[in-house]
Amino acid sequence: MKLRAHGNLWALTSGQRLRYLAAVASTGLTAVCLFASPLVVKAFIDGPLAIPRIDLGATDATLFGLPAVVRAGIEFGLWSPSGAELLAVRLTRTYGLGACLWGGAALLVALSAAGALFLYWRGRHASIASEAIVRRLRDALYDRLQRLPCAFHDRSETGDLVQRCTSDVETVRVFLQAQVVEIGRALILLGAALPILLSIDRGMTLVSVALFPLIITFAILFFRRIKQVFQRMDEAEATMTTVLQENLTGIRVVRAFARGPHEVERFGATNEAFRDRSYDLMRLLGVYWSSSDLLCLAQQGLVLVWGSKRAIDGDLELGELFVFITMIGMVIWPVRHMGRVLTDAGKAIVALGRIEEILDEPVESRPSAPLSLAERPGRIEFDAVGFSFGDEAVLEDVSFSIEAGQTLALLGPTGSGKSTILHLLLRLYERDHGSIRIDGVELERLERGELRSRIGAVLQEPFLYSQTVAANISAGRGEMREDEISEAAHAACLVEAMSELEHGFQTSVGERGVTLSGGQRQRVALARALLKDPPILVLDDALSAVDTHTEARIVAELERGHAGRTTLLATHRLSSVVTADRILVLEHGRVVQSGTHAELLGRPGAYRSLWRVQGGIEERIDRGEAPLDEGGQEA
Ligand code: ADP
Ligand code: MG
Repeated sequence: MKLRAHGNLWALTSGQRLRYLAAVASTGLTAVCLFASPLVVKAFIDGPLAIPRIDLGATDATLFGLPAVVRAGIEFGLWSPSGAELLAVRLTRTYGLGACLWGGAALLVALSAAGALFLYWRGRHASIASEAIVRRLRDALYDRLQRLPCAFHDRSETGDLVQRCTSDVETVRVFLQAQVVEIGRALILLGAALPILLSIDRGMTLVSVALFPLIITFAILFFRRIKQVFQRMDEAEATMTTVLQENLTGIRVVRAFARGPHEVERFGATNEAFRDRSYDLMRLLGVYWSSSDLLCLAQQGLVLVWGSKRAIDGDLELGELFVFITMIGMVIWPVRHMGRVLTDAGKAIVALGRIEEILDEPVESRPSAPLSLAERPGRIEFDAVGFSFGDEAVLEDVSFSIEAGQTLALLGPTGSGKSTILHLLLRLYERDHGSIRIDGVELERLERGELRSRIGAVLQEPFLYSQTVAANISAGRGEMREDEISEAAHAACLVEAMSELEHGFQTSVGERGVTLSGGQRQRVALARALLKDPPILVLDDALSAVDTHTEARIVAELERGHAGRTTLLATHRLSSVVTADRILVLEHGRVVQSGTHAELLGRPGAYRSLWRVQGGIEERIDRGEAPLDEGGQEA
């Protein structure tokens, strides 16, 4: 189903147009009921109630309870027979005026009831149609957000995306639900009223719609202006949502740094900007509504004054004047409402445009003829890989290979590109140069899903869902058996820590895992990666918050547990790299050294100096002295 509407609200309604048609038809039937009422009244006023003027000689022609003005009208002799009136007259002759008036009253009640029923249908169809479209839109948005590259999320603000998925979608929904049918309603009302009015009196009809073009032009002029103002308001709201979202996500940092007052100020500023923009919009709408109200009332006044004059002159019957006044009263508000439709359409077009910016973003590419990997692939090669974020080169000419079942350690200071290498392997980002292969297969030739299903990854900042520990370990893998979960937890040295918690593995961890320690969080993430025993394991500083003792146990578990598993391990801790089959030392995105621990220790270079520093610290600690700082002074 087509969802890209390019700000085109009509295209958006595809698939639901029949429902909208049903809603418009219901609206039409409502209009029929609405218009029939004054015609019934007219039939009585100009028919039986005018009887005293045309001698029917009947006693039932008493003018009981008639308002003075109607009686006066009748006396002025405004009666001319028409079908409905003649029918009313005949019925009156047969059944008597009293009975016929009761009958007319019953007809009016029945018409109102039918009108109400059609009104309900209209609302029902319009709601079902709009909710269906909006649901489709939301699903499409969410689906797209899942498939957009990480680079998109890097440059987007979460708050802004949230605003587009909620507030903007709501703006579109309001339009689709309340206004689409209004267009049909105004057209039907006009279409039904004009022939009736024209058949009564042409000149009077022209006077009755004299100001309509002005009302509509006015609405169109405002429509354009409102689009601009609403766009600004919508963007101000997105900024405010972003500040709010950032603040709530980082609430602990805000508290720890006593940034509360500053944050309140920052929020206050965006809130104020939002209020100002909303105020601009409200002011504009205020001007618009009041002036268009004025025009509408002027139009009604014109009908009243001109119609009364015509009636007094004897050109127009009283019942006809009544029809003009009521019908124009009924038609003018929908016509004025077109202004509302246009303003809401303006907002909806802006909102839809913002939604489509997301829908138009290219998703992660897919191979045309995907290859598949062996069940347990293992050999990984990087060949002259280069990568940059914008202009900043992050990796240059990175080459290495690692055999199945081996462990590769990436060692380097923060910012040297360790995480980036792992992200490229997971295809969270796409490399710019060179080639990356698994078992000889280029990564581009693989479906991302297949690639990632072979890799268990613990990223630098593990993310936990606000669910139980067990649910977090099995996240994304459906229901897992308890023994599988506890096996993975055992390998991640998590069992002891969890047994200390009141509900063990059924403990809820809070949002993003806040109720766990950093080390516990990392181990839950590790258990998650180890579940299902992946052939390739990627650990990005995954044990940085775990104490060295536990870390050694985990490393031993990982080595003992699963032979044949290829492991890539990024770290800045020397202790975790000693046993690796191969160590790459990175600096500023380049591989400066590579080899085993023994080889690297035997050569002068970054690795040896790093080791010296750490070794030196350990020796001094053993001797009970304070470690030296960089300048050789006791720290
Ligand atoms: P490491 O894991 O070794 O600490 P990274 O691979 O995370 O280093 O980062 C390498 C470089 O890439 C750093 O200079 C960092 O500033 C930059 N970088 C990392 N992620 C992004 C990003 N999403 N956008 C722009 N630059 C980034
Ligand atoms: Mg990193």
